[in-house]
Formats: sequence, C-alpha cells, structure tokens
Amino acid sequence: MIIVMSPDSGMAEIEAVVQRLHEAGCEAHVSTGERRTVIGAIGDRGAITSIPWEAISGVEKAVPVLSEFRFVSREFQHEDSIVDVGGVPVGGNTVTLMAGPCAVESRDQLFRAAEAVLKGGATVLRGDAFKPRTSPYSFQGLGEEGLELLAEAREQFGLPFVAEALDPRDVELISGYADLIRVGTRNMANFTLLTELGRQPKPVMLKRGFTATIEEWLNAAEYIYKEGNHNIIMAERGIRTFETASRNTLDVTAVPTLQRLSHLPVLIDPSHSGGRRDLVLPLSLAGVAAGAQALLVDVHPAPDEAKVDGAQAIVPAEFEVLADKVRAVASALGRE
Ligand code: PEP
Ligand code: MN
Repeated sequence: MIIVMSPDSGMAEIEAVVQRLHEAGCEAHVSTGERRTVIGAIGDRGAITSIPWEAISGVEKAVPVLSEFRFVSREFQHEDSIVDVGGVPVGGNTVTLMAGPCAVESRDQLFRAAEAVLKGGATVLRGDAFKPRTSPYSFQGLGEEGLELLAEAREQFGLPFVAEALDPRDVELISGYADLIRVGTRNMANFTLLTELGRQPKPVMLKRGFTATIEEWLNAAEYIYKEGNHNIIMAERGIRTFETASRNTLDVTAVPTLQRLSHLPVLIDPSHSGGRRDLVLPLSLAGVAAGAQALLVDVHPAPDEAKVDGAQAIVPAEFEVLADKVRAVASALGRE
C-alpha cells in the first residue's frame, strides 16, 4: 500500500502516519519529493488495509500496489509522469530530441555540435565529461572542464544538458552543473550511485543495464524514487544478445512494456543500441513509432576525428533529416 500525502500536509502529519504503521507492526518508507510526500507501507496486508487511511489528517489517498517496484509502477500512479529538464517537459504525448557528442572533446567540437543540434530541433544537449570506457587507457573525458564547457554551451544556445555520473563521489559536482544526470548501462545496478542520485535535486536518466531485465531496471528506478527524487526518465539503449551485426540489440518491446508497467517517460538511444551510423535513423523511427517519448542521439561535427564512439555518430546534416522524419512519424501518430 502507498499512502499519498496531500501537498499541504506537514511534518507532524507525515510522522503520525509513520507512527500508525509502526504501531501496526509495519515498516514505512517515506519518499519526500518536490511536489509531494508518498509513504510506502510494508508489512502485513490485513493490518495495513484495516487502517482507515483516508480519514487520517493529511492523507490524500491510499493506493494498493502489488508490484515490487511500487512507487514507479502504473498501479501507484495512473497518469504519465512529466519530467522537467531545465524547462523542457519530457513525457506524456510529446517527443523530445536530445542530441550532441558522446563526449566533450573541446570547446570548438562541442559548440559546433550544439549549434547543429539546435538547428535540427533538439531541445536538450548531450555531452559527457566523465566517460565509462571498456579500456582504462581510452579517453576518460575532460572532467570538470567538460562540465564548464557544457554550461557555457547552455548559456550560448539556450539548451539544457544531460551528462553522465559514473561515481557517487562526483554526483554533487555534476548536479551543480547538469540539468539532467545520466546513469550509464554499466551502472544501472550501482545502488550506491542510484541512492546518491535520489538525494539530489536534478532529474535522472536511467539507462537499462545491457543484461538487465525490465523488472530489474524498474527496481533500479525505485532506488532513486524512494530517496525522494521522483523525476526519472527510463532509457532503453540496447541489450546484449547473440547477434553480432550490431553493437547491441534495441529492445523495442521495452517501450510499450515499460509504459504498461510504469508511469515514467521512456527514451530510446538509437546510437548506443546499434553502434552503427546507418542504424541510427531506422532505430529512431522504430522507437518513436513504438511510443518512445524521447530520443538521445550521438551527433558529432567530424565523427572521423571523434575520441569516443565515432562509428555511431551522425553528422549535423543527417541529424536534420532524422529530426524531420521523427517529426513526421510523431505527427502521424498524433504526438507533439
Ligand atoms: C553514453 O550515452 O554515452 C553511454 C556511455 O551510454 P551507455 O551507458 O548506454 O553505454
Ligand atoms: Mn558513447
């Protein structure tokens, strides 16, 4: 059962609910978000349901939830969540384009990419300062200097930006700069990182672990939500299968499945899914046709010179074509 407190309820009322649960021999998980506080009740079902929740001061409603990932489930919240990314709404009936280079390499590279993606219609810029690399000898990102360049680009082009946090120790630093913090596929089950991200104010994009089931992925989102951060975007980026023709296999099934199970917005990353430039357009269109509410696309002004993931980056002119076709598919489906 989840107890939803009314927006104007105070600390005393929240504590009274927790007290009531303890008296019934149950546990209470309090998640205080920007908009409201929700309390997960855990313990004997009969004891929990026998309490007349809606008669208790400060309680808006009590929602029975059977799934393990309770707060992020559709059972708990019927309406789609809309996540605010630096003023850009993500979720619901809209399709948001996020694009930019995989890694920030230099001011010139980032600014050329930002100008191009803005022209193509992207409303969120991507670019990483901390890169998770398979080899410890590969380029690891510019660190804080990269974040400063991203903040400068935001200023110049008016685009909020998303960047990855690899380590719980960097969360405070990244949260001070980024509008949206990404958890990469390799860290989906890094529960210390998820908990830390749940305790800071910026929204989180949670990539699916490349060997994770949808249920494991939703449980990872629950780690963030339960700490009080209710602004989470789920990002499908391909899973590892026996197929070697593409870097990963985009699981399009994940889009409608997540939307059935959860209220969180769903994004597709066509670049890391296929790992090949020629797959970016068809996978983007497939994702939007399946209902994805956002795309995250690698765009590089000179992919041949890219320090990271050049093979999957598209050039600005290709991004413009992609954006036009995405808009056509979205409007054919009555989406914005
Ligand atoms: C990325 O988006 O740059 C990235 C590293 O993605 P993933 O974690 O999905 O590999
Ligand atoms: Mn990459």
